[in-house]
Amino acid sequence: MFIMKFGGSSLQTPERLRETAAIVRKHQHLRPFLVLSAMGHTTEDLVDAGRSALNQRIEARIETFHRTFLSALDLSLECVDTLLSELYSLLKGISLIGELTPKTQDTLLSFGERLSVRIFSAYLNRIGLPSSHYDGWDAGILTDSQYTHAEVLPESSERIRHALGLETKIPVVTGFIGKDGQGNITTLGRGGSDLTASVLGQALGAKEIQLWKDVDGILSADPRLVPAAATLERLSFVEAAELAYFGAKVLHPTSILPAMDAKIPVRIKNHRDPSHPGTVIFEGESVKSGVIAIIYKSNQTLVHIESTRMLGQSGFLATVFQIFADLGISVDVIATSEVSISLTLSGADLNELIKRIKPFATVRTSRSKSILSLIGTATSSSRLLETVMRALNREKIDVQMISHGASKINTSLIVEDGELKRSVAVLYDAFFGGKE
Ligand code: ADP
Ligand code: ASP
Ligand code: MG
Repeated sequence: MFIMKFGGSSLQTPERLRETAAIVRKHQHLRPFLVLSAMGHTTEDLVDAGRSALNQRIEARIETFHRTFLSALDLSLECVDTLLSELYSLLKGISLIGELTPKTQDTLLSFGERLSVRIFSAYLNRIGLPSSHYDGWDAGILTDSQYTHAEVLPESSERIRHALGLETKIPVVTGFIGKDGQGNITTLGRGGSDLTASVLGQALGAKEIQLWKDVDGILSADPRLVPAAATLERLSFVEAAELAYFGAKVLHPTSILPAMDAKIPVRIKNHRDPSHPGTVIFEGESVKSGVIAIIYKSNQTLVHIESTRMLGQSGFLATVFQIFADLGISVDVIATSEVSISLTLSGADLNELIKRIKPFATVRTSRSKSILSLIGTATSSSRLLETVMRALNREKIDVQMISHGASKINTSLIVEDGELKRSVAVLYDAFFGGKE
């Protein structure tokens, strides 16, 4: 068996959905297990619907969008009736109470994937491909209770095998969602369907995990910033994990880890061009040397912590890291000296952090920064850094911090958000300019 995960763009219109079903039919003999995202931009629409409900407006857009599919695909209206009325009641509840907690937000967003699997599975059945749909929890996905970014618990593997192991029809499972131990709905963070695919693949011992998207694979840069970016044919797990974590939007940040653990190849495929081989992520050494991709994360906060020397050098670093651990803050890029630490954070509670650090250090923060990461195994660190600095200097782009890991897999630099586009273009030209 193998996993085929389809993102929202594969289910954006009834026509696209039919093409996606045709891809499934072609692979039917290989026993595909399907994982689906919400159709088109439904997750975004649900976020908007939540906001509107807070302003006493109940939106009908999601219902209309899904009903259009049912009539275009000649499916019974009943297959999503119950869910649509539950969604209406939830939105009504949000508008009455005037509150939208992270827990409620997760339940709200779960409707996208739940609607999607019901419609797609009904369509497969209609065209003669026997199929059953599963909500994440019915497929065995158990998470912790960190609403909006829950983690899948290890017990899920056994539960998934139990739930899906004997399934003879084509299972169509919701990506992105699960339930915690108390039975509350959780989500795995935006883009989380990739992770569901990888978790199912690991639990079921899949031969391959395929992530079908609207691009030819993982590209050497975000195609929206660098239209000439090229497809990477092969990537090692370590490189892919680094790429995902440091912001390549094409993969959810932790999606590769379960597949990596089980050594199952992950293939990124283009649903618009199924014959294109895409990118394969595999167990092994990287095949290319030099920089292979340039990626970014914007909207980060740069924090500079300087010791007031009340604590010794090692006491200072240990105390600061303990505070990060206590507050559950994960740091992306960091540079330390004996008496200072510079690092980037996103989405952390800065006030609490400053309060805890103030007694023994000064803290300065500045927002609207971008982390730009060069992924690849550079043969010479000094040559790589020289190329970066020369290219950015020539364009008068100021680099505010630089971090070059011992693994040489990742070199990250911090620039202003406003300089991001230009920086990516300049660096792409410096590293790939002569190669195309
Ligand atoms: P899906 O939700 O269908 O799984 P995503 O929209 O999450 O797919 O990811 C695909 C999108 O990621 C592409 O359309 C592309 O615009 C964007 N992207 C950003 N960086 C990269 C990259 N390095 N390689 C490929 N796509 C990228
Ligand atoms: N539908 C969810 C999102 O838009 C999950 C996913 O697409 O992977 O983030
Ligand atoms: Mg995605």
